[in-house]
Amino acid sequence: MQNNFLKEITKKIHSERTPLNINQKIYHRHETVDGGVFCEIWFMTKGCKHDREGGCTMCNYGKGHEVADDEIISLIKETLDKLPLPLKQLVISPSGSMFDDEEVSPYLREEIFRLVSEYNCEKFITESRADTLTREKLDKMKNIINHSNIAIELGLESANPWVLKYCINKNLALTDFKNAVDLIKEAGLQVTTNISLGSAFLPEEQAIKDTLSSIKWAFEAGVDTVVVFPIHIKPGTLINAMYKNNMYECISLWSLIDVLQKAHNQFDQRVEISWYKNYYNDKKKIVLSPTTCSKCRKSIIDLLDEYKDTCSSEVIQKLVDIKCDCKTQWQEKISNNKVDTLEQTLNYYEKLAAIFDIDREIQEEIIRDARINSYILNNCE
Ligand code: SF4
Ligand SMILES: [Zn+2]
Repeated sequence: MQNNFLKEITKKIHSERTPLNINQKIYHRHETVDGGVFCEIWFMTKGCKHDREGGCTMCNYGKGHEVADDEIISLIKETLDKLPLPLKQLVISPSGSMFDDEEVSPYLREEIFRLVSEYNCEKFITESRADTLTREKLDKMKNIINHSNIAIELGLESANPWVLKYCINKNLALTDFKNAVDLIKEAGLQVTTNISLGSAFLPEEQAIKDTLSSIKWAFEAGVDTVVVFPIHIKPGTLINAMYKNNMYECISLWSLIDVLQKAHNQFDQRVEISWYKNYYNDKKKIVLSPTTCSKCRKSIIDLLDEYKDTCSSEVIQKLVDIKCDCKTQWQEKISNNKVDTLEQTLNYYEKLAAIFDIDREIQEEIIRDARINSYILNNCE
């Protein structure tokens, strides 16, 4: 599960990140989805524990600061007071995991749930790593909010253990994920999971297959909804270091459309999308986003906006029906791909070892380990 090689590199990258602005301890955005107001509130913590110790290759939630619990509570209250009511969906999340006691104290967590219970929202969602959940924490939340429509969003990214370990450095066992899904269901809550599209080291065509097989696995594991996240290149991430050294390219939005079309044909359940466009106003937060060419981009983004609201198969069909030269180029790229993912990954590991000056022994051990386990990479298609 633990990838000491990627952990060393991501720890170095984390140590060089500029800390977040201490004066911006809370951020919120709201938009209209499904005909109602959807609001997302993020609050500052010292950050995701996994990220601080050398985390996921694509993630940069920022390098936060410890903030007094009561200050966060009053900032969340102030934000909620300003929102248009009633809310269709309210998401409140820290920089990592709501249920990690090291990141969010039980006192702060429970006070946040008390605030949620006082506001008129149809559905409440919060995010956590699967390995931070316990039945006791879930029951406590349920008793405080006293609301039947609560969902926990768990990051899965990929259901292929090889991809999780050698491409994402998620340090997540699928058994822990499955246990968390069972706990959430037993508590009578809903579970939604985030799946990445465009993980590091995967050629685009393999990334599409990985996302599709992960969606299938997640539904079989009992999740209610899946949210597909095409990966953006963020500063302060391994993916950005790879991009700067010609080892990573952003995926095309045609790959997202391909996933939506195939997922819709294969699974009867709802596959949602998020972050198919950059929501930040601050240009420094994203280096590059998944896109298409300038001729078709606007119509694609408009239709993806419509799909986000409706999850409708007609919208997918409209997306599939768009014709553009950049679609033909994408199709050629996908169908001509002859890259051996294992060999390319290990080649990139060698380059990264040189760039980040990683100990030879750590590098050799992970390369041996990745080869031995490479059968897993192709097992999950
Ligand atoms: S993706 Fe989630 S688990 Fe991974 S570093 Fe980011 S916040 Fe932590
Ligand atoms: Zn185009």
